[in-house]
Amino acid sequence: MSPTHAPTFAIAIHGGAGTIARSTMTEERAALYHAALRDVLEAGRRILADGGSALDAVTEAVVRLEDCPLFNAGHGAVLTADATHELDACIMDGRTLAAGAVASVARVRNPVRAARVVAERSGHVLMAGEGAERFLSTQGVALVDPGYFTTPDRLDQLRRAQAAGAGMLLDHDGASKAAASSGDPIDPDRKFGTVGAVALDLSGNLAAATSTGGMTNKRPGRVGDTPIVGAGCYANNATVAVSTTGTGESFIRAVSAYDVSALMEYTGASLEEATRRVVMDKLPRVDGRGGLVAVDRFGNVALPFNTEGMYRGMARAGEDIVTAIYE
Ligand code: ASP
Repeated sequence: MSPTHAPTFAIAIHGGAGTIARSTMTEERAALYHAALRDVLEAGRRILADGGSALDAVTEAVVRLEDCPLFNAGHGAVLTADATHELDACIMDGRTLAAGAVASVARVRNPVRAARVVAERSGHVLMAGEGAERFLSTQGVALVDPGYFTTPDRLDQLRRAQAAGAGMLLDHDGASKAAASSGDPIDPDRKFGTVGAVALDLSGNLAAATSTGGMTNKRPGRVGDTPIVGAGCYANNATVAVSTTGTGESFIRAVSAYDVSALMEYTGASLEEATRRVVMDKLPRVDGRGGLVAVDRFGNVALPFNTEGMYRGMARAGEDIVTAIYE
C-alpha cells in the first residue's frame, strides 16, 4: 500500500444486475433485498475491522449470499433447461494471484468454499463437474442433494421462460432462435442474480469472489464467466479486485475483470475511469449487459452497471453501510 495512504479496509458486494422492473418491485420486496445486503456487509465488515483477511471477508460474504434464496447462487440458484442445477464459482487472492474455481457442480452446498479448496489444496485452478465433486468430498466440503438449491420461485421462473421460449421457437422466429443458440437467457425477468464480493483488508491485500447458478434455462453444460479468472473474477494487489455479473458470454469475450486491472496497470487509469470504460463502453460493444463491483488498493470503490438496476452495497472503515438497487 502506498505510504501516503493509511491502512484502511473496504468491502463491496453485488447480488446481480438486470432489468429489475420498478413496477414489480414493491417496498416490502426492496426492503428484503436491502436487509439481506446489509447483513452480508455487516459480516464482511466485522471480519475486516478485526484485522481479518480480504480473502476471508469475501468468502464469508459470498457464503451468506449463496445461502440467501433471494439471489441466484447456492440455495435459490436458477435452473438449466433440464430443470437441474449447475453452479459456478471463483475466488482470487490479490496477494499471491492464487485462484480457484469450480464449474458445473451440482451438489456443493457453497460453491465459493469449494473454489477456495481448489485454490488451496488441489494444485489446479479450475475443476468441473462430477470429478470436482469427488475431489471436494475428500476435502470435507459439504455436499447436498441437488433439491436443496431449488426454490418454488426458480421453478416458476424456468416454466415461464420455457413457455416463452417454446412459443418463439415454434414461430421459427430467426432472431429468437439466434438468441437461444447464442446462449442468451430466455428469462422473462431479464435478471442476473449472480453474487459477488470484493475486499481490501488492513494489510493492503485485495480479494474477489463470485458465485452463480448461471442463467435460467441455460443449456446443460454451458459455463458462463463466473468461474473464469479474469472474466467473472480477478484480484491483484497491484491494482484492483473485481467481481462481475451479467451476460456471461460477453464478459468472457471482453475479459472484463482483468480488463479493469489492465487499464489501471498499463494506462494509469483510475478505478472510476477503468470500470466505467469497461462497463459503459467496452461491454456494450459485445452485447454485454450487467455490471461489476470493484475496490482498489486505496479503498476506492466502484459499482457501475449498464442495466436498469444492480443489487449492491459497500462498507468502508469509518463509514455507514450503503445498499442500493437502482441508479
Ligand atoms: N454472469 C452469469 C453467467 O453468465 C450470470 C449472472 O451474472 O447472473 O452465468
